[in-house]
Amino acid sequence: NPFTALGLDAALVRAVSDLGYTQPTEVQAKAIPLAMGSGKADEASIDLMVSSQTGSGKTAAFLLPVLNTLIAQKAIEAAAEQAEFERQRAQAAASGEAAPKRAKRKNPMQSRNFKAAVPGALVLCPTRELAQQVAQDAIELVKHCKNLRVANVVGGMPYQLQIAKLQNADLVVATPGRLLDLQRSLQIKLDKVQFLVVDEADRMLDLGFADDLEEVHQMTAQRKQTMMFSATFAPRIQQLAMRVMHDGGANVQ
Ligand code: AMP
Repeated sequence: NPFTALGLDAALVRAVSDLGYTQPTEVQAKAIPLAMGSGKADEASIDLMVSSQTGSGKTAAFLLPVLNTLIAQKAIEAAAEQAEFERQRAQAAASGEAAPKRAKRKNPMQSRNFKAAVPGALVLCPTRELAQQVAQDAIELVKHCKNLRVANVVGGMPYQLQIAKLQNADLVVATPGRLLDLQRSLQIKLDKVQFLVVDEADRMLDLGFADDLEEVHQMTAQRKQTMMFSATFAPRIQQLAMRVMHDGGANVQ
């Protein structure tokens, strides 16, 4: 399978097959290997500035590499949790104590005390409609992944419902205004965001989101991978790229 050849996790390859994708599109074939870099966790991934039209398959071009890394990180976390559980069980057995129980995961929708969401990945979109579409695509792509949560943050959704849906989110797809509202009211922390994607960067500037973008960029982790997708590489886009990406990002045309 050509998606396996790109280095993607089996759960993502299954989801892509379910969607009927047989071949990566051009932008996917170019951007996915670059975004994933060497695949080594200790090597910095490069920032990307990708020229992309709607209909090119750009959404999967950024979602797949981001989700792939989140899956790998979750697997490492789960293995560490399992090792700790087994260590405690062995210790209890050796000292004749009762075996420890696994911590139960609470249903966040039933919790009254919401904790701030701390996502590892953030996709910014210029409009509510686009953010909803991207979140929908992400949900399709993670359908075979246990423990990976996608949340959509857009204006118009009732605040309490929004906060409940954000709980434990790994990937947040947002419009800048609502995201910054939630950040200011401490419902979301952005300092663990290690992947920042700006979708339709040109429309983002047209709609006056330049300052919001920079603000989000400042709040996210210093060491992160930023990817900007844009229909044009107009000078103002290049200028934005220079401000928010290492060396303005590697150009993918
Ligand atoms: P986008 O440019 O991300 O809005 O994607 C445009 C359309 O192409 C969407 O309906 C996707 O589901 C579809 N698509 C994305 N990647 C592929 C692929 N590799 N093969 C076939 N269709 C795809």
